[in-house]
Amino acid sequence: MNERPTAAAHRVVKEAVRAGDLVVDATAGNGHDTLFLAELVGKSGRVLAFDVQQAAIRATRERLEAAGAESWVDLYEESHGMLLERAGRGAVAAVMFNLGYLPGGDHEVITEVGESCKAVVQGLFALKPGGVMTIVCYTGHPGGEEEAGAVVMGLEEIRDVGTVEFDLEVGEPAKEKAPFLVVVRKG
Ligand code: SAH
Repeated sequence: MNERPTAAAHRVVKEAVRAGDLVVDATAGNGHDTLFLAELVGKSGRVLAFDVQQAAIRATRERLEAAGAESWVDLYEESHGMLLERAGRGAVAAVMFNLGYLPGGDHEVITEVGESCKAVVQGLFALKPGGVMTIVCYTGHPGGEEEAGAVVMGLEEIRDVGTVEFDLEVGEPAKEKAPFLVVVRKG
């Protein structure tokens, strides 16, 4: 019954994105979200995908090539801390984050609190009005709870200060330590 946070993220993004849009996958991982975004925006669109792990970039490239969707995706083997510089302000229809570690990859390479918070704030500025940002947060690994808490608190502070206008929806984990979805909708 309970919709999985990754499925919910896809549903939310699908509603906000049109063919031809510019979108960002901030944590490419195995490339599932990157391909999902590439199919949504189509050839006339553009996807920027980031991952600091070479194995993740490789897996993502292979997945895109298998689907014939690589030509409108830019893969960056660098931190999502470069998101705003690469995407520019106010131009992006959707930003997707999937935090934590890459299943099957190096569990030592996890997203980390400072960089995730920085990149989420950049995502806020990169979004255009009507754009959405989805963040799937994981709390089952060391540092995960702290990271998720900091990301949510950071967004709440910015919303309350009112520098950027957006709606914030923080999902409930289905059970203790289960992942949950955070959705930002820019006004
Ligand atoms: N936990 C999810 C998958 C997350 S994958 C699941 O269970 O399905 C998270 C990805 O973020 C990893 O591939 C990792 O290499 C990447 N990552 C870590 N730090 C990053 C950073 N600063 N910038 C971009 N990607 C990063």
